[in-house]
Amino acid sequence: MVNRYKEQGVAHVKEASEVPTPEPNERVIALIGPHGFNGVEIDLLQTRGVEVRDTVCPLVLKPYSEIKRNSNDQVQTLYWGQEGHAETLGAMSVASDWTILIKDLEHALSEEVAGQIKDPERLGYASQTTHNWDEAMKMMDVLREKYPNLRTPKKEDICFATKNRQDAVRSLLDAGATAIVVVGSPTSSNSTRLAEIASEGAKAYFVDSVEELNPDLFYGHEAVGITSGASVEEDTMFDVMKIFIDKGSKLVPVTVADESNIHFKPSQPGKNYYNEL
Ligand code: SF4
Repeated sequence: MVNRYKEQGVAHVKEASEVPTPEPNERVIALIGPHGFNGVEIDLLQTRGVEVRDTVCPLVLKPYSEIKRNSNDQVQTLYWGQEGHAETLGAMSVASDWTILIKDLEHALSEEVAGQIKDPERLGYASQTTHNWDEAMKMMDVLREKYPNLRTPKKEDICFATKNRQDAVRSLLDAGATAIVVVGSPTSSNSTRLAEIASEGAKAYFVDSVEELNPDLFYGHEAVGITSGASVEEDTMFDVMKIFIDKGSKLVPVTVADESNIHFKPSQPGKNYYNEL
């Protein structure tokens, strides 16, 4: 997806400081990607006259709202996120004084985290949307045991697209796949989780594009699974499937959840959704 934008002349930046301030009579548009950004920096961009198109996914805004609600009630949030990831940077910017970043289960139980907790009776929990579902369930169970009054989301923060794809990889393993191709960017959290789950029971090949795929690697495998991260374009998947079809393979779909009835509203130009949490 990002590569397609790049081909159309869109610059991919990671820091607000990389976005130029528009000259008089010039327009600079910053598109905030679906997994969020530091909300404070979005404000700064708008102050500099940059037009912001905020396309943050509503499911990413869900844990952000939980952090905001907790901070309004003077409840600290333990936020499980991948350090440096855009979604984590966005989460930590919502109420930085009331949010503690936890990197994994071991870190969550560490003295370092315990030392940042103001009141163990006033704690909440939220997480990045693209973690491994099973690990997320374990994280909540362990934290609830340690902090019985922990305020947890009514519905898990892991998004449906992440959960469904993880279930699909497990179906591929159950169906006997001994090799699984995961198409996705190495910077994509949900794709990385798929490759990790695939490698629990098969040889996993994590590729960003069809050019990285060497079909000769699959000789000797009777069943090869193919899956992709949530934002991989259909064209890329068709190209990958075609490689196998051209080699004479038979494609057998596994049962996956139906997502065809899930729709998100388009974002509104000029809105900064962080200000509406
Ligand atoms: S992977 Fe999930 S949270 Fe991320 S953009 Fe897609 S639906 Fe939203």
